[in-house]
Amino acid sequence: MSETDYQALVDGILSDVQAYRGQGTVPNYIPALAQADPNKFGIALVLKDGSTYAAGDADQPFTLQSISYIFTLSLALHHVKGALWNHVGREPSGSPVNSIVQLELEKGKPRNPLISAGAIVVTDQLIGTRGADAAVEELLAFLRERSGEEGIGIDEGLAMSESRAGAFNRSLAHFIAAFGNMLNPVEEVLSAYYRQCSVAMTCRQLARAALFLAFDGVDPRTGDTVTVASRSRRTNALMLTCGHYDVSGDFAFRVGLPGKSAVSGGILAIVPGTGAVVVWSPGLNTAGTSLVGSVALESLAERTGWSVFV
Ligand code: GLN
Repeated sequence: MSETDYQALVDGILSDVQAYRGQGTVPNYIPALAQADPNKFGIALVLKDGSTYAAGDADQPFTLQSISYIFTLSLALHHVKGALWNHVGREPSGSPVNSIVQLELEKGKPRNPLISAGAIVVTDQLIGTRGADAAVEELLAFLRERSGEEGIGIDEGLAMSESRAGAFNRSLAHFIAAFGNMLNPVEEVLSAYYRQCSVAMTCRQLARAALFLAFDGVDPRTGDTVTVASRSRRTNALMLTCGHYDVSGDFAFRVGLPGKSAVSGGILAIVPGTGAVVVWSPGLNTAGTSLVGSVALESLAERTGWSVFV
């Protein structure tokens, strides 16, 4: 495809979703997210040479929420390597993102790193013995470097608001700690967790930051090895099997690409060997995935034929 074709692609997707705009429900359990406008929609596609094609509200920041799990996973694996898998599993949960039921049966070891319980364990491992601030600073530095945007920061008000409303996550964390699967005090881990979820980025910035996952761990624009190839492939495998809570199978069926959804309405999708795509629209479907965002990614898959199952 030529440059004009790629721009026509994202513009075409924007028109495909027009009829759906405003649909879905904004989450009300995080007060600041409840004020989001469900009519917003943005899309950004970044390719190997760094060229970016965007449409709609692609330059409006939103908070990463559980898309941040992808980056903390990558950083934690860098620090603790395969030992991470003693603390968190790699199977789809088939349960809502904040479910606690499996934790009891499985003795405090969360099913996978892409549900809340698993992400809390990953954050604890990333903190290690360094303290929460060092872990959050490492994440911020990583995202700034990969996206090339020094201004990326945390929406601290949102982090506070989520912490105040955080009974579910607090329950998960205490349950994990009760089984001896937490190194650091629960409140310290949660403070890092809420701050990582509250990093604000635009579709364009986020697609750039995740580009290494489409190229075996190498950022094709700089040649930097961000992570080893096997780890990059495995992160994509986890996104495909676990990236959308209890609708991960349906997402793989409909879109056919590794992806990660967040309660803020963002969805990151990786097209291995080609690029990274981020869509954002705050209205969610019943599974907690962006309603308009998933329609947009279905349209992308249909228009391009991109799929990991070719
Ligand atoms: N910060 C959110 C939470 O823990 C992230 C969840 C999500 O994006 N699905 O509730």
